[in-house]
Amino acid sequence: MEIVPVKAFKDNYVWTLRNETHAAVVDPGEARPVLDYLGREKLKLAAILATHHHPDHVGGIAELVQHYRVPVYGPRNEPIPTLTQPLGEGDRISIPELGVSFTVLDIPGHTRAHIAYYGAGSLFCGDTLFACGCGRLFEGTAEQMYASLAKLAALPDDTKVYCGHEYTLANIGFAKAVEPDNRALSAREARDRKLREAGTPTVPSTLADEKATNPFLRCREPAVIDSANKYLGARIADPVRVFAAIRDWKNRF
Ligand code: ZN
Ligand code: FE
Repeated sequence: MEIVPVKAFKDNYVWTLRNETHAAVVDPGEARPVLDYLGREKLKLAAILATHHHPDHVGGIAELVQHYRVPVYGPRNEPIPTLTQPLGEGDRISIPELGVSFTVLDIPGHTRAHIAYYGAGSLFCGDTLFACGCGRLFEGTAEQMYASLAKLAALPDDTKVYCGHEYTLANIGFAKAVEPDNRALSAREARDRKLREAGTPTVPSTLADEKATNPFLRCREPAVIDSANKYLGARIADPVRVFAAIRDWKNRF
């Protein structure tokens, strides 16, 4: 099985799991690019996986299921009218056409019931954990998002992180403001700039990359705590409060 990005909108990735004959798509915000890809590669759609209800992740599903009658997996507690297989924490799904299965993780914060799919050494985490960043808190609290990110960070270091958007360079710009002396971050910036100049996605990263460079996973690091304190003009150390501070800072950055 191979995992390839199909681009949608300006910076969305519809992650497409495929073999010689079949494909499954994660977060098809648009149908057209997916239908074009499937047609060009002569693949049959086997399943649709959604991480959360935002239109840039589910907007293409209704049209896709008119062409392919496939199961539509997604979070149980979010308004996704096309859903056929509602999921929550601990559920397992398998896509026999691709010989792959996934465990479902509840990762609320960006939205109320956002889920991730973990399997085959890969994590599909939508708009929760981004490459060098994290999603905005639209429906959840900082406590929830912090716990969700901690849950993802506990997966093996070599896990490949497939997030929903190409936001990496902008995220790195912010991460450098938080941790100007992080050498792993400078190395990542050089690498990811080269990738973007060549038109190559910076995603997937690995959890090891994220733990070394993503400020939202580093809320216990003295340098991150210091920067959060400078931003707030206060003295805090509790990681959830540090997280909340840098999330707020990023919103204004
Ligand atoms: Zn979203
Ligand atoms: Fe999104």
